[in-house]
Amino acid sequence: MTTLADPVPGGRPGDVERATALGGELAGRGVHGVVLSYVDTAGIGRIKTVPTARLPDAAAWGVGMSPVFDTFLANDAIVSTDVLGSPDGDLRLYPDLDQVTVLAGQPGWAWAPVDRITQEGERHPGCGRSLLRRIVSEAAERHGLTFRAAVEVEWTLGRGDAPEGAFVPATTGPAYGATRQVEAGDYAADLLAACAAQGVDVEQFHPEYAPGQFELSVGALDPVAAADRSVLVRQTIRAVARRHGLRVSFSPAVLARGVGNGGHIHLSVWRHGVNLHSGGEGRYGMTSAAESFTAGLLTHLPGLTALTAPSPASYLRLRPSQWAGVFAAWGRETRETALRVVTGTAGLRDRAANLEVKPVDLAANPYLALACLIAAGLDGLAASAALREEVTGDPARFTAQEAAARGVRRLPVSLAEALDAFREDGLLRETLGPVLADAVIAVRQGELAAVDGLDDERVAAAYRWVY
Ligand code: GLU
Ligand code: MG
Repeated sequence: MTTLADPVPGGRPGDVERATALGGELAGRGVHGVVLSYVDTAGIGRIKTVPTARLPDAAAWGVGMSPVFDTFLANDAIVSTDVLGSPDGDLRLYPDLDQVTVLAGQPGWAWAPVDRITQEGERHPGCGRSLLRRIVSEAAERHGLTFRAAVEVEWTLGRGDAPEGAFVPATTGPAYGATRQVEAGDYAADLLAACAAQGVDVEQFHPEYAPGQFELSVGALDPVAAADRSVLVRQTIRAVARRHGLRVSFSPAVLARGVGNGGHIHLSVWRHGVNLHSGGEGRYGMTSAAESFTAGLLTHLPGLTALTAPSPASYLRLRPSQWAGVFAAWGRETRETALRVVTGTAGLRDRAANLEVKPVDLAANPYLALACLIAAGLDGLAASAALREEVTGDPARFTAQEAAARGVRRLPVSLAEALDAFREDGLLRETLGPVLADAVIAVRQGELAAVDGLDDERVAAAYRWVY
């Protein structure tokens, strides 16, 4: 479980002693530096590092970094809001000692996610990880609710010797093909070994649909740990690939056409240790609370896409009939609805039942995405929202009238549409708070301006290697 208490200047009781012991242990394992990692509003992982010997100091006082990164774009241009984007100010990055991990794919390095607090010792209002911690802790305190989450990771593996900027698939075999596993076997074995050494509980690894595409799924954790893990897993996938002369893209659309890379989020709500998606009186064993949680997500999905699919490239992926879930609807094990109700196999349901949110990609900041998904679900739960009828099969086959009759809406088809929906969604803006909501708007507007006039191929190329 993630520690839910905020970092404090000087360190929480015991932190410095713990960091001292941890630093000694890391040094003994040949670790020279610790990567301090967070994800910005645009979805880019940003870091600072400290030598291993400085870990106790970082645990006590944090490490400085400008708040300007909250309004960085994916291409490193800077936009601004009323309060963010100026060259002034400083924040302290506090490593979460519970999550310090020796990086098996990067000998000499360890990694830790950070919370960002101000120099006055307050939570930084732009810190997505702190926000998610708060939402999770409030749900536990006020409603006795906890969550389990996991982020699926899809990526395309390119040849390292491809011409600059180009994507040449590293494998030639078919989707889900045995050939592909042979072609990438040494890389994949090293990847699984690195995950195991890092304590990452991999559930599955397989070749995916698109050329050179693979997927790895991990076990569910509390939401903060799940977001941390998705960042760590991506760092590992990339690092191991590099050692094999390969290149990795997590972009939603490596190419303008065809199936993209998703980052589906699995989410379940629990009360007093009981999974609310199983053993209930509702459809497929959902309790009425789980049905209402699902209904809340459906209501807010249009605005949520500004967080779960935040890149102009996201909308090259979000097309019907590609299993990306572009219709606001739900269905049991339906891969074309935005929400796939996963019941799990008989015998495992009390543990395995969950909701898969499909219109999510890996350009998303996982902390912000999870914070807003949980808030949307809780909104439905608080209102005892009714869940409409299930949809089976591909909603793309419905005529406009049929779709309207079933209440099935197409999710935003562009970042501009998603941003409009976000602006209109008071709950999501309130969840983020004014500083982060403004940052999301400014950054999305900045991304839109950055691709203004570009055709799909150029949009795909612009974001191909940044995520
Ligand atoms: N690659 C698909 C996507 O873009 C997902 C395929 C799957 O269901 O795993 O989301
Ligand atoms: Mg997949």
